[in-house]
Amino acid sequence: TKKSIKGFLKRNLFVLLTIAAVALGVMLGFALRPHNLTLREIKYFAFPGELLMRMLQMLVLPLIVSSLVTGISSLDSKASGKMGMRAVAYYMVTTLIAVFIGIVIVIVIKPGKGHRDSPVASSGTIEPVHAADAFLDLIRRVTTVGSKLRCQYKTIHTKNVTVALSLTDSLNATEAALAVNMSRVLQTIQETVVEMIPVSGSSNGVNALGLVVFSMCFGLVIGSMKQQGQALRDFFDCLNEAIMRLVAIVIWYAPVGILFLIAAKIVEMKNLAEVGGQLGMYTVSVIVGLLIHGLFVLPLLYFLVTRKNPYTFMAGLLQALITALGTSSSSATLPITFRCLEENNRVDKRVTRFILPVGATINMDGTALYEAVAAIFIAQVNDMELNFGQILTISITATAASIGAAGIPQAGLVTMVIVLTSVGLPTEDITLIIAVDWFLDRLRTTTNVLGDSIGAGIVEHLSRQELQSQDVEVGNSVIEE
Ligand code: ASP
Repeated sequence: TKKSIKGFLKRNLFVLLTIAAVALGVMLGFALRPHNLTLREIKYFAFPGELLMRMLQMLVLPLIVSSLVTGISSLDSKASGKMGMRAVAYYMVTTLIAVFIGIVIVIVIKPGKGHRDSPVASSGTIEPVHAADAFLDLIRRVTTVGSKLRCQYKTIHTKNVTVALSLTDSLNATEAALAVNMSRVLQTIQETVVEMIPVSGSSNGVNALGLVVFSMCFGLVIGSMKQQGQALRDFFDCLNEAIMRLVAIVIWYAPVGILFLIAAKIVEMKNLAEVGGQLGMYTVSVIVGLLIHGLFVLPLLYFLVTRKNPYTFMAGLLQALITALGTSSSSATLPITFRCLEENNRVDKRVTRFILPVGATINMDGTALYEAVAAIFIAQVNDMELNFGQILTISITATAASIGAAGIPQAGLVTMVIVLTSVGLPTEDITLIIAVDWFLDRLRTTTNVLGDSIGAGIVEHLSRQELQSQDVEVGNSVIEE
């Protein structure tokens, strides 16, 4: 048995380390909270986590391009077409189920009822907008408002941090005067190290959706070039392989990064009482919804399609799920998701390469569920009765908002605007839920990543015929791997 324990430890070393990192991060965070660290100190403390974030983001851009191009160009257009259709069908079905669960839960639990006289409830007048108008309006919004808001949000966020930093600095004038030289040096070193890891966008600046579309087109064209395209196919295949080797290195650092990401977040978060108080039931509603979707609905779907044990499949994903929890970004988690699916669950690379980048960009079950819960919560706070049409509008816009949200931290909070305006709810009420959003964001991101991964498993199963016939055609067998 000693041997088998050793074997178990060896096989699951990373997973165990990652779980330990979460536990340690939580403990360290709570241990440091009473010490009231200054924002500057928190920034230093968050540094190891920020490094992980950037390492992952650094890998995302070449990973998306190389995997999509190889994934698509190695399939014939009929096979990729079929696979794509299956993936889209899966995305639509699961996202709608998620929205449905959210709506039922929030209507049953009613977390927003009875807050009418509370100071946070806004008194704005509510004009229900016709569903059809709202939908047309939405298309415009998704494309314009979404991206604008994302920028604004970032600027405001950065400004706040700067203002806050300078405020604490002036409050601690004496301390600062003494430490100023030291901290300047430290800060410069820290910034330099951070800048050493280039982040070329995709998860922040450049839009991932555009990248996905471009890479798909590019892959299709290369695929149609037959022999002539071989050099490019080999090139992107090799590039993809090389990136995955970098991922294998970054993975060694992941537990450390996750530990500090979580600890720093706990240190910096404000009033815990708020979570327990008014927003408590709201938080519970979102969590219950996500749990039902992630632990029952998705596994059931996986079982029904593949007849395999969904929980074994999910165990293989643990590391990706924890990374999602730590980074609250499905984009940044993508490299780890790839590894878990390919290495632990042995999902065919032609499927993961094709499906995962698309899924991480547009398939967000957790976000969709959360958008629906949040919108109806805000309606309840405003004492607004929603009719069936409006609830339908919310489900459609919540789905759209989840597709439009980028896989970056708290993107869903921004696309909430779409859902709220579609039924005439006051957008400024988003401020009601900001206090707990950092936490719920992590949970919904985990659900998003789970949805993408189970989708890859399901699409692989449904596409086994096409994959096999391609094997025969190309003459490479799966056994070879
Ligand atoms: N943070 C989420 C993700 O990356 C998006 C969201 O804010 O809902 O998947």
